[in-house]
Amino acid sequence: MNESAAKEEAGGAVDRRVIVARGWTEDRTIEVPESALFGFHEAVLMGEGPQSPIPKPMLGAVLKCTDLPEGCEDFGPTCEEGECPHNIEVVVPRDRNAPELYRELKSRVAK
Ligand SMILES: [Zn+2]
Repeated sequence: MNESAAKEEAGGAVDRRVIVARGWTEDRTIEVPESALFGFHEAVLMGEGPQSPIPKPMLGAVLKCTDLPEGCEDFGPTCEEGECPHNIEVVVPRDRNAPELYRELKSRVAK
């Protein structure tokens, strides 16, 4: 059992799971606790190096490499450069998450 599951069982606040992807093509998705995400913003560019515009704005967020679930260490950029934690840019695909959850997360985008 992982730590956050243990906390939930102990009666802590329910930490909902959010599906996030590395890019707008959603080729790889992982599930992370809502509390691990911060820096919600409208993502218009994605990708390593020269960034390319994505077809339509998506809900973007930031995840620390230290909050990656076990077994998902290869999801983000490698941690070879500099010291952890590294910030990983992710997107929250609307059709992969519950509508209420998506709406709530989206409302956290700084206007
Ligand atoms: Zn790192």
